[in-house]
Amino acid sequence: RAAAGEEAQIPRWVRINTIKTTVEEQLDTTFKGYEQVTTIDEVLAPSTNPAGGKQRRILIDPHIPNLVAITQGIDLSKTEAYSSGKIIFQDKASCFPAYLLDPLPEDGDVVDGCAAPGNKTTHLAAICHARRPDFETQESQKIFAFEKDKRRSQTLTKMVKIAGSQGWTRVGFGQDFCQVDPTGEQFAKVGALLLDPSCSGSGIVGRDTMPELHVPEGSPAAGSNKKVDKGKGKAPQINEDKGKKRKLDANEAAQSSVMIDDEGNETVVNSEKDLEARLQALAGFQLKILLHALTFPAAKKLTYSTCSIHSQENEHVVMKVLESEIATRRGWRIMKRSEQVRGMRDWPVRGLKESCGGDTEVADACIRSYKGDGYGVMGFFVAGFVRDGSKDEEM
Ligand code: SAM
Repeated sequence: RAAAGEEAQIPRWVRINTIKTTVEEQLDTTFKGYEQVTTIDEVLAPSTNPAGGKQRRILIDPHIPNLVAITQGIDLSKTEAYSSGKIIFQDKASCFPAYLLDPLPEDGDVVDGCAAPGNKTTHLAAICHARRPDFETQESQKIFAFEKDKRRSQTLTKMVKIAGSQGWTRVGFGQDFCQVDPTGEQFAKVGALLLDPSCSGSGIVGRDTMPELHVPEGSPAAGSNKKVDKGKGKAPQINEDKGKKRKLDANEAAQSSVMIDDEGNETVVNSEKDLEARLQALAGFQLKILLHALTFPAAKKLTYSTCSIHSQENEHVVMKVLESEIATRRGWRIMKRSEQVRGMRDWPVRGLKESCGGDTEVADACIRSYKGDGYGVMGFFVAGFVRDGSKDEEM
């Protein structure tokens, strides 16, 4: 399977949770004895240990603070650092949104509109905490984390607690973000929002269904597409995330491909037309939730992300936001590359110009990644929006 090849190109990404520990402390404990290297290729290189044991290598990521990549296949899940929330398994690309949002103390409260399982919520908390160690006791900067699904809200609540960020995170348990009233008094100081809504999940490693439809023209991965073997071999096991393993029947497997979204839901996609309809439905939801987020009265910055590589869910949504009545009326615009935090400014893989109506500045402002492109990350998209505050009209 193509997915097995993809997995071989991804190291284990570990975010050091600075609410509970430091990179230095982890290098001295959990990662003691690891060989420090400087490139992803070195992390992924086969072991050359003559004794046959696994070589343990670690790379301190040059783009995202407090993130490391380690040799695959080392079980860290039984370490004290993992069980106590000092280290969190999180793909590098999944760290882009909170880092790009860069919530500052003067930005006030922060919203995570689609929060479970909580990787980005807890990353936001760590960033706020680093800027303001008195953050927890002062109650001066809160994070509102909404999650519509009750089961996933439980996971979110657990993760927030393990990460040590429960003191200042308010979990909107089972709460639909679209139903939240932005003019509510408790949201008056919300200055920064992170939106990571449901998407097709086409960037997730191991989700290789219909890859010939997944790769947009112009992306570095285009040209290496392989057709799905629709008739031969074993039917794929699907929906592992939900513990509902189901095998497609032979007929289904022969004629269809299954698209599994980022929450593990499956959709049988028989044709390019089916895929397009599914992507349009997702894009409609993504735009709706984004436009809602833009109405928070004090909001000044926002990041939008997906783990999809489809332009329909990415640049096209960004363009629709920029053309929207609400963005024009409230003065929202794209966060230019030159305005981004250093690691994101330096990240080389950018948006697709042809998907931005030829607008080079918007394309350059968009941040992308593709699985299998040599950077060792999953397929991802993120864009930032900012509001200069000159248009503070009554909503
Ligand atoms: N940001 C999360 C993280 O990094 O751990 C992953 C978020 S996942 C891509 C999208 C989440 O949004 C799902 O848990 C889904 O249940 C939730 N969701 C979808 N629609 C929502 C809505 N209208 N309001 C709140 N949450 C929603």
